[in-house]
Amino acid sequence: MRQYDYLIVGAGLYGAVFAHEAAVAGKTSLVIDRRDHIAGNVYTEQIQGIDVHRYGAHIFHTNNQEVWEYVNRFAVMNRYTNSPIANYKGEIYNLPFNMNTFNKMWGVITPDEAAERIAEQRRAAGITEPQNLEEQAISLVGTDIYEKLIKGYTQKQWGRPCTELPAFIIKRLPVRLTYDNNYFDALYQGIPTQGYTQLVANLLGCRADGTPAAQEDWCGRITVRLGADYLKERETLRDLAGKVVYTGPVDAYFDYRLGALEYRSVRFETQTLDTANYQGNAVVNYTDAETPYTRIIEHKHFTFGTQEKTVISREYSAEWKVGDEPYYPVNDEKNGALYAQYKALADAEQGVLFGGRLGEYRYYDMDKVIEAALAAARREL
Ligand code: UDP
Repeated sequence: MRQYDYLIVGAGLYGAVFAHEAAVAGKTSLVIDRRDHIAGNVYTEQIQGIDVHRYGAHIFHTNNQEVWEYVNRFAVMNRYTNSPIANYKGEIYNLPFNMNTFNKMWGVITPDEAAERIAEQRRAAGITEPQNLEEQAISLVGTDIYEKLIKGYTQKQWGRPCTELPAFIIKRLPVRLTYDNNYFDALYQGIPTQGYTQLVANLLGCRADGTPAAQEDWCGRITVRLGADYLKERETLRDLAGKVVYTGPVDAYFDYRLGALEYRSVRFETQTLDTANYQGNAVVNYTDAETPYTRIIEHKHFTFGTQEKTVISREYSAEWKVGDEPYYPVNDEKNGALYAQYKALADAEQGVLFGGRLGEYRYYDMDKVIEAALAAARREL
């Protein structure tokens, strides 16, 4: 019996946006998630009155006005601006790479002096056409910054040498010749003041625990069921809806029949500390190779918290194996080629739409996920 128009697998951002758009268009959805909470990896939970990003820090930023206005319908966004600090063996540098970083590294004062330093180091390294992340990094910011702020961090994060990683990963980071510590070159930026879980709950018309919240007509068209694993209960779940929107790992959907795509996983060690302010910033990256974690997040600073205690998370990057939580797709050549084969299978799969970071095996930021979900909903509805 087809009880719903859509079965949406995954209650993260992609699934929630799609379900919302479908509901507004008069379609019914059953949204399931194998976890016991909504919001996928953007999930936040309150500890000591602080929104803790359980699956890693999420800072919303976008150049897309439509997407910005869209999230603002479901959350009050604050004016948080991401300005991470890099700690290299006790030396502190501003990120992203900007005049403050160059001044601290080389004592240079003007943009011309900084540009000349970078050009000198690029020439000395003999790089014309960067072929990998190392060459790309040196050509963007020179060898000194590469050695202290990029090499160790990147090798920890990806578990591979920078020479074996694609250049585009480092292009996520802006390099600018102004004294501007804003990490993101984006028109709009902020954190939901009530947490991402509430944002997703508002999209789904439910409470944080998935129970129905209310009121408007469209809410009644979304049913949320937690603790339901599509891949384990395919036979019973598939027939509940006309179509499936699948936001889990694309290779898992096909039982890894072509082999497993690689992901990086992250392990978080979260602690409540009896101090009001542990590190003075939301994000501190440990960019040396020896410190075992990549960064420490102090969650309260995302929302300018004034609580008496603080909660911090150390992030340890880990190799992923089947059964672990996948976080980052490893978009190198080998995985790109394997994904292309899975994509062909996905395209041929009748009545199933694949979406999101895991469903499309893409290093999507949140705004791109929303953009993609809105576009898919438009095509579909
Ligand atoms: N990166 C780096 N040093 C830093 C921060 C980032 O070398 O202090 C590089 C690293 O290769 C990382 C990439 O830049 O994988 C992208 O970093 P971003 O902070 O955008 O990653 P995310 O926040 O998505 O984990």
